[in-house]
Amino acid sequence: MANPLYDTLFGRHAGRDTPFLHLPDGSTLTHDAFLRMTARFAHRLTGLGLAPGDRLALQVEKSPEALAVYAACAQAGVVFLPLNTGYTGDEIAYFVENSGARLLICDGAREEALAPVAAKCGAQIGTLNADGSGSFSRGAADLSEEFATVTREADDLAAFLYTSGTTGRSKGAMLTQRNLLSNAETLADYWQFTDADTLLHALPIFHTHGLFVATNVTLVAGGALIFMPKFELDRMIAEMPRATALMGVPTFYTRLLSDDRFTADLTRHMRLFVSGSAPLLAETHVAFEERTGHKILERYGMTETNMNTSNPYDGERRAGTVGFPLPGVELKITDPASGDALPQGEIGQIEVRGPNVFKGYWQMPEKTAEELREDGFFITGDLGLIDADGYVSIVGRNKDLIISGGYNIYPKEIEVLLDDQPGVLESAVIGVPHPDFGETVVGVLVPKDGEGPDVDAISERITATLARYKHPRKIVVLDELPRNTMGKVQKNVLRDRFADLFTG
Ligand code: ATP
Ligand code: MG
Repeated sequence: MANPLYDTLFGRHAGRDTPFLHLPDGSTLTHDAFLRMTARFAHRLTGLGLAPGDRLALQVEKSPEALAVYAACAQAGVVFLPLNTGYTGDEIAYFVENSGARLLICDGAREEALAPVAAKCGAQIGTLNADGSGSFSRGAADLSEEFATVTREADDLAAFLYTSGTTGRSKGAMLTQRNLLSNAETLADYWQFTDADTLLHALPIFHTHGLFVATNVTLVAGGALIFMPKFELDRMIAEMPRATALMGVPTFYTRLLSDDRFTADLTRHMRLFVSGSAPLLAETHVAFEERTGHKILERYGMTETNMNTSNPYDGERRAGTVGFPLPGVELKITDPASGDALPQGEIGQIEVRGPNVFKGYWQMPEKTAEELREDGFFITGDLGLIDADGYVSIVGRNKDLIISGGYNIYPKEIEVLLDDQPGVLESAVIGVPHPDFGETVVGVLVPKDGEGPDVDAISERITATLARYKHPRKIVVLDELPRNTMGKVQKNVLRDRFADLFTG
């Protein structure tokens, strides 16, 4: 194929008058209309001097135009670099400079602030607003003829995606066409997507989940997206009767369950609910099945590898697990110290290998060498185990492991207990330096509205069920947990904050 990514996701739909995007204003964009917009943008990019392999950074609200910029990058061979809309000017400056982007497309309201940033890095600047206006608006491009799709190899870079920055500074993961395509095709097949599917799309398109899973999988199959700017309960409930599938993060599901309008009847036409990006609580799983009769399918992936595992489409979806390695993906559990494979059932670091695994971190050769072994296995930084039936479970991140007096402590085991206590909305368990034990356990609680948790009673109850070395030495109450822009809890921030608790 001349350009595997473009041809497979987009080009094959040329001339199809079937719906691709159902938009909030009630209008619909067909596959063909979307491709015509794409071709205009591709002309635009080459007109601005962008050559194959150049990077284009995009920080804009979700819109059909923003998605067409992604498609245009594929068509023109430009490397697509979507940026979280929550990033500040300083953060954008870092990403544009670090990636050497040649064009930055931002919201018109930020143009003035970002123009000097772009100029300093030698990047041009373009605008695209939430309503579709700006220099990259649908109507602004003057060319309407065909664009000759640029030839690309499967090994060429297709995208740079910065990691979420949950454990430290975001890293630019270099993803090839093969990385994206192998995953899209595998998942479309595994989850049985067809052109009859209509996916509720409420995830951001700057992250692997919303772009490379939800969008690409639907595109491979030629289905449609109900394209929502963000998750809104009313809208989700209103749109669900005409959809067949939803891909979301766990909070989508807890929020749906919090509303009485969300009934089994509403999900009558739905065939698939997928959850990922963060752990889905077993109680959510159970409550969802009780309410709707549907079992949520949980899967596990990351920026660097796209998706690694999934619960089966047909067959038992096991709560608390992320299912099996996807076809073509090898997964093993290794000893963090020696790197040797561990016996089935033991907790260790999760390593994966396959066509989904990225090429490395942009301009971080040392970091890349640390995490990407020469034999192709990527050390994910997550800890997990494989049960006797082959189901994979995640127990936490390697960096969050607490080692106290020589014992390994997995925060999740204690968090599950804390979350269950009266008056507790959520919790995080961290290790902080301790003069005798090296590290010791600290529990951080966020109270439910109005009720103040009784810390002493909680401490008494949970210590009754935990081995002594796992007892939190201190439980602190905070109004909220620090989160990054993807909503993930930043334990490094908590660790810094409480670093002096026992050593100060
Ligand atoms: P950074 O690498 O910059 O610290 P990050 O790892 O949060 O940030 P992402 O690539 O967005 O960046 O997230 C991938 C991580 O999300 C995985 O490594 C894993 O820890 C977590 N994750 C994804 N899916 C699941 C799941 N189903 N259950 C538990 N954790 C999950
Ligand atoms: Mg990570």
